[in-house]
Amino acid sequence: TEVLLEVEKLKKYFPITGGVLGKKTGDVKAVDDISFFVNKGETLGLVGESGCGKSTTGRMLMRLIEPTEGKVVFDGKELTSLSESDMRKIRKDVQMVFQDPFASLNPRHTVEKILEEPLIVHGIGNKQERRRKVREMLEVVGLSSYHAKRYPHQFSGGQRQRIGIARALMTKPKLIIADEPVSALDVSIQSQVLNLLEDLQNEFGLTYIFIAHDLGVVKHISDRVGVMYLGRLVEITTSSQLYEKPLHPYTQALLGAVPIPDPTVKVNREILTGDLPSPANPPKGCAFHTRCKACMEICQTDRPVLEEIEPGHYAACHLYKK
Ligand code: SF4
Ligand code: MG
Repeated sequence: TEVLLEVEKLKKYFPITGGVLGKKTGDVKAVDDISFFVNKGETLGLVGESGCGKSTTGRMLMRLIEPTEGKVVFDGKELTSLSESDMRKIRKDVQMVFQDPFASLNPRHTVEKILEEPLIVHGIGNKQERRRKVREMLEVVGLSSYHAKRYPHQFSGGQRQRIGIARALMTKPKLIIADEPVSALDVSIQSQVLNLLEDLQNEFGLTYIFIAHDLGVVKHISDRVGVMYLGRLVEITTSSQLYEKPLHPYTQALLGAVPIPDPTVKVNREILTGDLPSPANPPKGCAFHTRCKACMEICQTDRPVLEEIEPGHYAACHLYKK
């Protein structure tokens, strides 16, 4: 296996200012020192509650948000040191799919114009070639080429997300960062879009980072899953290990909150209690200690680091200290 993306000690701190003088009083550590890699052709799920830093992480990978510190190495190139014009070339290979396709599609543009735009931005093809690519791509994502002259409001939510996916695919990217791509859709439509994403991955050899707020959505599509809590990665491993044998108490709590479709199946449901602390003022030590049922004395003072507990299975928790 070949690594396509490597993230090293990535941080995003937003300054907090206060008082009449607007002096800086601290930082919101939206993303606080996370490292992970993504192999070519795989899907990495990135999961956590809102405010855990997963979307900020996704945007930093494309430098839509500038990292405060850390490295992002994509396809052998270190992105954080690239000029804006070199970065623009990289964006041809790294595309995003957003949660709300309606908000991310210009309502005054036809589908044809929306899908043609990334080709124009990257100087791909002449007008005739671009229009042909648009029509082909509409078919690829399960729409019809005669939809090209329509506007976003003339489509259903699921169809609009297909347009968002088509737009992301126009430049033939290597990596797609999908930020909650099915969260706004009805459950019945979600699986159709997930199936489409899997088919496209196989067809085009795509690599995905799939961001979601619940573990249920990413279960089948992800090869590996990372769990974030208050700006930190607390566990990362293969899907099968994560769902069968979660190590971190936060992951265990999240899994307890995944709806179980079959009411006859008995599982030990660990429900997550207590409020999510403010990212502006996270608890000392282990950030999860205020909600953790297994909390020990050391957890209140010492921050656990992400360590390999079992082969390929990393967790940041004092329970597993050797
Ligand atoms: Fe719970 Fe302590 Fe592990 Fe944090 S380090 S998850 S508080 S047991
Ligand atoms: Mg896959």
